[in-house]
Amino acid sequence: MQNTFEVSPDTGLIEPAMRCHSPNQDARPPPAQPAMVVLHGISLPPGKFGGPEIEALFTNTLDFDAHPYFGEIRDLKVSAHILIRRDGSLVQFVPFTERAWHAGESCFRGQSCCNDYSIGIELEGEDENAYDDRQYQVLQQILPAIFAAYPAITAREVAGHCDIAPGRKTDPGPAFDWLRLYDGLGTS
Ligand SMILES: [Zn+2]
Repeated sequence: MQNTFEVSPDTGLIEPAMRCHSPNQDARPPPAQPAMVVLHGISLPPGKFGGPEIEALFTNTLDFDAHPYFGEIRDLKVSAHILIRRDGSLVQFVPFTERAWHAGESCFRGQSCCNDYSIGIELEGEDENAYDDRQYQVLQQILPAIFAAYPAITAREVAGHCDIAPGRKTDPGPAFDWLRLYDGLGTS
């Protein structure tokens, strides 16, 4: 299958994608090259899909009084590089060249502060609710484009938020089918 996605290592942009600028980013510390991918699951409010709340959270425009759950994340300054919605549509908030704020306190293979050297991919979903076929299809095209742009990253450097922040984070949750992802990447 022809891969429709392409990543420029110079600009850190993936094409084609919708763009939504998040101010929640800063420069990566040296060596500044992405070396892993972190997969997340997010829905706002939890279990509701398709609304504008994720973009609002990542652009610091969420009305924290609009839902009881939002009070728990009040004034949270977070972002991810990209979001894959349930329908497979893709939104980029932060260029891969910059540091997005998605991992928090974290560690991968003994190296802490995963935000410094990771690409954060949010899947619109929740831990116990099957992810959409279209999300797997898009992810299975996006990841090879990322691997091609950043040779330090292979399928072995793709982890869940739950793996780099165990005990603190559970996403993308047991609903995420890692074997299906690996099969789609031709790496089992
Ligand atoms: Zn997460």
